[in-house]
Amino acid sequence: MLLAASPPATARTSGEIRIGVLDFLGSEATVGEWSPLLHHLEAALPGRTVRLEQLDHAGMRAAVAAGKLDFIVTNPGHYVELEAELGVSRILTLDAGGGRTPARALGSAVIVRADRSDLQSLIELRGKRVAIVGREGFGGFQLAWGVLADIGVSPDEDFAELQSVGFPMSTVLDAVASGRADAGIVRACLLEGLGEAGRAFRVLAPRNEPGFPCATSTPLYPDWPLASLRHTPPELARQVAIALLSMDADSDHPTWAVPADYQSVHDLFRKLEIGPYAYLREPTLMVMAQRYWPWVAGFALVLLGWILYTVRVEYLVQLRTAALSAALAERDRLESAARATQEQADHLARLSVLGELSGTLAHELNQPLATIANYANSIIRRADNGRLTDAALREATGEIAAQAERASGILSRIRAFARKRTAAREAVAPVELATEAIALFRGMMARAPAITFADTLPPDSRIEVDRLQIQQVLLNLLKNGYDASRDQPPERQALEIRLAATGDRLEIIVRDRGSGIDEATRARLFEPFFTTKDDGLGLGLSICRSIAEAHGGRLFAGTPADGIGTCFTLSLPGLKHDPAHDRT
Ligand code: ADP
Repeated sequence: MLLAASPPATARTSGEIRIGVLDFLGSEATVGEWSPLLHHLEAALPGRTVRLEQLDHAGMRAAVAAGKLDFIVTNPGHYVELEAELGVSRILTLDAGGGRTPARALGSAVIVRADRSDLQSLIELRGKRVAIVGREGFGGFQLAWGVLADIGVSPDEDFAELQSVGFPMSTVLDAVASGRADAGIVRACLLEGLGEAGRAFRVLAPRNEPGFPCATSTPLYPDWPLASLRHTPPELARQVAIALLSMDADSDHPTWAVPADYQSVHDLFRKLEIGPYAYLREPTLMVMAQRYWPWVAGFALVLLGWILYTVRVEYLVQLRTAALSAALAERDRLESAARATQEQADHLARLSVLGELSGTLAHELNQPLATIANYANSIIRRADNGRLTDAALREATGEIAAQAERASGILSRIRAFARKRTAAREAVAPVELATEAIALFRGMMARAPAITFADTLPPDSRIEVDRLQIQQVLLNLLKNGYDASRDQPPERQALEIRLAATGDRLEIIVRDRGSGIDEATRARLFEPFFTTKDDGLGLGLSICRSIAEAHGGRLFAGTPADGIGTCFTLSLPGLKHDPAHDRT
């Protein structure tokens, strides 16, 4: 039998079985604890030497990693770590007896001084000083940490102080007894083992664990395992297991049982994120997402909302843009349609002016041509009769030349009037419209009748019209008046033009003292191609009315108050009184 407290993990000799045990009570205590195990194994395995090595956490880990041990005996927490990291494998679990089973053997007691009646529950440890052996203590810290975590108390954040006082565990009791710490964490059953001295302390929040002989603040966990290492020969492991299972159960030393389930230890370590589960503390994306999922979900929602909002705004912008483009295109289309219509109307107006003028032209040219023909015929007749004198020839040819000149004058005036032009509105004085029309009329007619002109408008009156179109209307009305009165006695052949204002309307009245208009004619007066004249076209009045209407005005016929002849009234809106314009 060999017992070695130090140095750990010395060189192996042939036939030697080396067992590492976790040192938690101090060397002497460990020796006493495990000597029955040594004796029994050596007795059961003749010819083998059993060497026990007492190691702390780090030392045992190093020895296992170096393959310098065949078996280890350690606390469940440390075992779970080495199992995950270095592949050790439990073959037995300690059976402490005395009401404890291998599966329900270990607990933690959170202790306070018996006279501290102010501390009754674990949650009251917040803000207190708590003594522990060390963070690696299984029963001495980790089990209690698990219970505290369940009620939301974090030793690191919520305790006023977490004092690691080190082995032996009685140091924790000293710290509590002296008042350096308000509470301490020790493995369950430590107090009970102290006898009378244990009564100075009280276990906080003791749990009801049936059959368990000690007070515990935590649930119970399996007892220490004995584990083989990766390289341990299976046959040796089998021999050791059989030998230990056959230890006398009646002895007052602990015996061994088949291995317990250490899943509860795994669960505890996963919850605390320590040992093999320390990686959970690393802030991987997944762990962060799990831990902060409400924030992640909120952020994702906000992001989603923002994306939806952006997409919708973009969609609406596109819709509106499309609508706007369509509206602009429609406006352009309407504008060009309106332009085309206007051009068409202008073109028609020009054509109708020309049409009307061609009637006037025919009429006007008729007379000089007839005169020329007369003189030419009379020359021929006189020549035939031998009565053609020089004087007569001179007179006739002179008259022919004069008439030809007159015809040419008519043509050039009408050509000037009829030349292509676009309708153009301009502000003109009504008096100018009338006097120009009278002058034109006199120029066109060989024997123009007398025309009286009356102007009752203010001197600076203006109206915006197409000057030539209005002149055309007035010419037509004068011509019709002339036609209606030329067969009348001379005193009824004079024509009249009068300018008057009715509100903002200009009225130009053209009056004759001619035949007047019977009812049948009056009904059809403005019909296109209605005429009572042999050489008439019947277009004059209908064109005049459309010109009046194009100016927003009206043209209508009436009978003068004295009942003689006819008066036509051209009524136009927009008469302005504009002295400023007049001065320029
Ligand atoms: P046109 O002079 O070529 O006949 P208009 O449209 O100018 O064509 O006139 C149509 C008809 O209206 C004339 O034929 C005539 O019978 C009648 N009319 C027009 N003005 C007068 C008028 N001042 N007095 C009597 N009848 C008129």
